[in-house]
Amino acid sequence: MQPDYVQRKDVPVVAQQSSDADWVARLADEVIAESDRRAPGKPVVVASGLSPSGPIHLGNLREVMFPHLVADEVRRRGVDCDHLLSWDDFDRLRRVPTGFDPSWAEYVGKPLSAVPPPPGSPYPSWAEHFKAPMADALARLGIEYRGISQTQMYTSGAYVEQVLLAMRERERIDAVLAQFRTKATPRPAVPPGGAVLSESDEAAAELAAEGSGAAAEDDGGTGAGYFPYKPYCSVCDRDLTTVTGYNDDTTELTYTCACGHAETVRLTEYHRGKLVWKVDWPMRWAYEGVIFEPSGVDHQSPGSSFVVGGRLVSEIFGGQQPIGPMYAFVGISGMAKMSSSRGGVPTPADALAIMEEPVLRWLYARRRPQQAFTIAFDTELHRLYDEWDAVERKMAEGSASDLDASSYDRAVRTAARELPRTPRPLPFRMLASVADITTGHPEQMLRILSDTDPDHPIDSLDQVRPRLDRAQAWVDTQLPADQRTRLRPEPDLDALAALADAQRGALKLLVDGLDEHWSLEGLSRLVYAVPKLQAGLSADAKPTPELKIAQRSFFALVYRLMIGRETGPRLPTLLLAAGPDQVRRLLS
Ligand SMILES: [Zn+2]
Repeated sequence: MQPDYVQRKDVPVVAQQSSDADWVARLADEVIAESDRRAPGKPVVVASGLSPSGPIHLGNLREVMFPHLVADEVRRRGVDCDHLLSWDDFDRLRRVPTGFDPSWAEYVGKPLSAVPPPPGSPYPSWAEHFKAPMADALARLGIEYRGISQTQMYTSGAYVEQVLLAMRERERIDAVLAQFRTKATPRPAVPPGGAVLSESDEAAAELAAEGSGAAAEDDGGTGAGYFPYKPYCSVCDRDLTTVTGYNDDTTELTYTCACGHAETVRLTEYHRGKLVWKVDWPMRWAYEGVIFEPSGVDHQSPGSSFVVGGRLVSEIFGGQQPIGPMYAFVGISGMAKMSSSRGGVPTPADALAIMEEPVLRWLYARRRPQQAFTIAFDTELHRLYDEWDAVERKMAEGSASDLDASSYDRAVRTAARELPRTPRPLPFRMLASVADITTGHPEQMLRILSDTDPDHPIDSLDQVRPRLDRAQAWVDTQLPADQRTRLRPEPDLDALAALADAQRGALKLLVDGLDEHWSLEGLSRLVYAVPKLQAGLSADAKPTPELKIAQRSFFALVYRLMIGRETGPRLPTLLLAAGPDQVRRLLS
């Protein structure tokens, strides 16, 4: 049944009827109904969690984007929604990520919020240093959330009651965990989405797990019994501690540490420690009343934290497991090698350097979360922009399918605001070529881009921003040096002298047609027409296999004479970029 929602001003409810294909609408229906059942009159609580243990991998963006899309749909329907983002900054530093000063190994075992930041950082801690760029990317993407520092929660004593409860119930917790310890099986190689993980996906999966608090950790067993709570040592602040005894009446906990320290503390007062992950997560579901929290495939195998947590949340903490669909991993492809000083890890900020915000949102909105996909940093990106532009055109014409329309709408705006869009979205590949050929020279870029469509000239580069800046960044960071396009400064006289008559004739047809065809569309027609005219056909003759061969060799000839290579940017773009005078000089 469709609830009677109040619609917020101006923001379209994307799907009134939730079809199976529209997964966002379907989940929003489910989440709202479940929230009404569990906590009537309260905001819908949706949760994500990230561990700022190093640069936060682009693959982890789905952890926040997936719940965001659902939360945003809930808000569009006028229902209050609280999207919590737990920063797991009270987790221990497990290892120093690749590319960072190995001497930081001395901090392994300390809470991420107590580890000093990398040298030169303006932030007070390791955790804050890696949170900041992620928080910035999320803000740019229009993702609104309430950040919760787990350091702040634990050290303020907010969870004292829950910690004491877990300690009191440690035998029952241990018994639940024991059932899964024997059942535990390795993560499936084939995720439910059906895609087989490649080796690089495996690596991405591991990195993603690292960033989501799921990395393997002991679940609390010690020689002296089972304890679901682990203190950070009050002397060395590391968690190389072993609990050796606990008194339920006094809440006195005794531990020893690898540093040699031994101590008895009272858990009602000692707040420097945390529940082990498999107990911590369900405790927070109950504490926050989480209705919806998806997780990656690594959390959902038998014996994993989501499954075990489902038992513990109800049996120990008196809460309920959230609706928690699995999401598949997001891979990265074609990324130019980055300097190791940044850890070699692609982050959401790296993606936003080359992708408009709506385009990045669209990648997630248009696919079911169980579908694995890859974010491409190479020329595949040009194809993605083309696809996006095609959908945008269909939207303008009113010919988009319902599904395209809803994923488009979720990409370009949220319940709160519009995302920035480029007023004149010229093809990304053309902007990249122009930025490449002109080495980013603004006046030259403006001249070339104005010539592409003389009937609607571009009078300011701002009309093609922010896309132009993304294209420029793509050229600067992703285009290999040997694929840069450099116009010959002087004609290749030897090559020109060696031309066959037919080649000379073709070039003359091109050069003579320049003035009449000086626009992107005109030049496109001209370059394809030349081989036809030469074959005695009309300019609009149907292409035959022979004509296609002739076209290819003609294009290669022009590329050789203009840039000394067999291929390059699309020919009309290259001609516009060179300007008519330079084209004549190089080709005649
Ligand atoms: Zn110690």
